[in-house]
Amino acid sequence: MVLEKAIYKEFEDIVGHGNINDGEVVTQCYSYNWCQEIFNHMHGKPAIPFSPIPKAVVLPSSTEEVQGVVKLCNKYGIIFKAQSTGLGPWNQPSTDNSIIIDLRRMNKIVKIDAKNLYAVIEPYVSRAQLQVEIMKYVLKCHMPGAGPQVSPLASATSMNGPGFTSPYTGHSARNVLGVEWILPDGEIMRLGSLGL
Ligand SMILES: Cc1cc2nc3c(=O)[nH]c(=O)nc-3n(C[C@H](O)[C@H](O)[C@H](O)COP(=O)(O)OP(=O)(O)OC[C@H]3O[C@@H](n4cnc5c(N)ncnc54)[C@H](O)[C@@H]3O)c2cc1C
Repeated sequence: MVLEKAIYKEFEDIVGHGNINDGEVVTQCYSYNWCQEIFNHMHGKPAIPFSPIPKAVVLPSSTEEVQGVVKLCNKYGIIFKAQSTGLGPWNQPSTDNSIIIDLRRMNKIVKIDAKNLYAVIEPYVSRAQLQVEIMKYVLKCHMPGAGPQVSPLASATSMNGPGFTSPYTGHSARNVLGVEWILPDGEIMRLGSLGL
């Protein structure tokens, strides 16, 4: 079930040409994920590693573009699922009336404050990327057990995130100081120290 052409165009106007795809190959690939078979089994479905197929995948590059995409989803009654590095079934669509918001273009470390021991990052920055940069200041960040390739942001805000370094770095949910969060209606909420 692909997007109507006119709706596709509206998404494309937000994220730019080449940053949306509703092709069969791409959307079917995004319906696969490791451990999805367990979710399916738990819900009485065949134990296959595929979720419902998303209508399209969009790749915004900024907070404003994500907002635009979320507002458009609301306008047309489409469900959205955000994906940072996308490890595991939690970021899979739960219905075929969904699009995936793949955040891989938002991959920048915005700031490292070595004196006050915090970093500002976008969703697709990985732990490994962050660790390499803060090593220059002889610092070490928490590493969730899922591995250095996952997103610290997704782990901190949505996954709790225990790991091998937890005895001295805590777990991800205890490492987040503030977030800029896009609400389901597309408005922005700033939480934690960012809200002050
Ligand atoms: C085999 C396996 C082993 C694992 N082991 C561990 C472990 O030892 N410790 C641990 O802590 N975790 C573990 N995990 C879970 C792991 O924490 C997450 O898969 C990973 O940290 C999340 O990072 P991600 O970038 O892949 O997030 P994603 O899978 O992309 O997202 C995780 C959740 O957050 C949502 N989300 C992602 N980005 C955003 C965003 N920018 N805004 C709003 N919502 C967003 C997604 O919709 C999804 O629900 C494991 C997972 C697997 C599959």
